[in-house]
Amino acid sequence: MATEETAEQREIVATIREFVERDVVPVASELEHADEYPAELVETMKELGLFGVTIPEDYGGLGLDLSTYARIQVELSRGWMSLSGVLNTHFISAWMIREHGTEEQRARYLPRMATGELHFAYSMTEPHAGSDVQAIRTRAVRDGDEYVITGQKTWATNGLRSSGVMLLAKTDPEADPRHRGMTAFVLEKAPNVHEQPGLTVSRPLRKLGYKGVESTELVFDAFRTPAAAVLGGEEGLGFKQFMGGIELGRVNIAARAVGIAQAAFEAAIRYAQEREAFGKPIARHQAIQLKLAQMATKIEASRLLMLEAARRKDAGERADLEAGMAKLFATETAEEVALEAMRIHGGYGYSQEYVVERLYRDAPVLILGEGSNEIQQLLIARRLLERYEA
Ligand SMILES: Cc1cc2nc3c(=O)[nH]c(=O)nc-3n(C[C@H](O)[C@H](O)[C@H](O)COP(=O)(O)OP(=O)(O)OC[C@H]3O[C@@H](n4cnc5c(N)ncnc54)[C@H](O)[C@@H]3O)c2cc1C
Repeated sequence: MATEETAEQREIVATIREFVERDVVPVASELEHADEYPAELVETMKELGLFGVTIPEDYGGLGLDLSTYARIQVELSRGWMSLSGVLNTHFISAWMIREHGTEEQRARYLPRMATGELHFAYSMTEPHAGSDVQAIRTRAVRDGDEYVITGQKTWATNGLRSSGVMLLAKTDPEADPRHRGMTAFVLEKAPNVHEQPGLTVSRPLRKLGYKGVESTELVFDAFRTPAAAVLGGEEGLGFKQFMGGIELGRVNIAARAVGIAQAAFEAAIRYAQEREAFGKPIARHQAIQLKLAQMATKIEASRLLMLEAARRKDAGERADLEAGMAKLFATETAEEVALEAMRIHGGYGYSQEYVVERLYRDAPVLILGEGSNEIQQLLIARRLLERYEA
């Protein structure tokens, strides 16, 4: 069953929870308000092996499955979602290299990704194309033993600090269907510099929440990379490879949503028992109890959907419908629960002194990332119509 935790998972989750309670919770809001990168916490995450959770042991990782990774993401996001953001682009890139990379690519990247020596961003979104991924314009043109890449990407999370980018580009803009002209590249770049030959990394974009982890533009202008950078060594497979990555990302986003919602619920139920109005704790007023009951029930449903999607993926079963449902339901729940938690806090919920203010600003990005929830519903409906084809 998806809900059953193995002894190993229990132990790992307990270790991460301890790290979150001890090191993350006391500093998260301060770092977030200052929009400061959590350098020390990231070092501890490397020591804990979190950069290589799903990288096979042969390549120096922990060799764990998606279900375990998702449970870890719940715990991290319960403390501070941005820590999950530091890991997620890296995790998807590593998974793509493991699944689709050549043996040479696996050997070159995975061991150093497992330790965190290499840190990856993944980048498909462009200023004019987000949901319509196949409309991207970034071009990669073969020139002898190299490709020359030109185009503009945006919203690349970890775009500045990363030393590698999993990039989606067009190798044949005339291809029909369009996705056959799209290719994934494993690019190496210098971390922490805004300018290098052929690549300009913007200042971090300013955001509502999800602070501390940077999202940047990447402007490629005749950036040169060896031809060996094509993921799997074959052009034209990039769209499918990225969509596989995004499916994993949906489970991860659902896990983050469960973490955010759980944190908001815990803050709300604690506060409701402390705060008094009309002569008794507000938790004794039925209107508040109804909120708490709805919140906890929806969080539990989100958790189960998320774990089932992860279980199916780990079992090698098709999981796009389940991952889509989990992402849709869990992220809408996180948004709703964060708002309800703020309402339960009354005016104090609007104050930066209380964590619910941060959770309320962090939740919305989950609704639009890894396929917006509008797109998610279209994908779910498409699969349902296939399944129930008359
Ligand atoms: C903080 C943050 C971090 C991000 N990190 C990354 C990253 O690391 N890498 C990366 O590649 N991208 C990243 N993104 C980009 C993100 O994936 C896109 O923003 C997302 O895919 C939506 O694309 P868009 O913003 O262009 O919106 P659009 O595609 O322009 O959509 C605008 C609105 O129209 C709706 N819409 C679009 N098409 C349809 C349709 N057919 N039917 C119904 N409604 C539709 C959408 O649901 C949305 O409501 C990040 C974004 C943010 C905000």
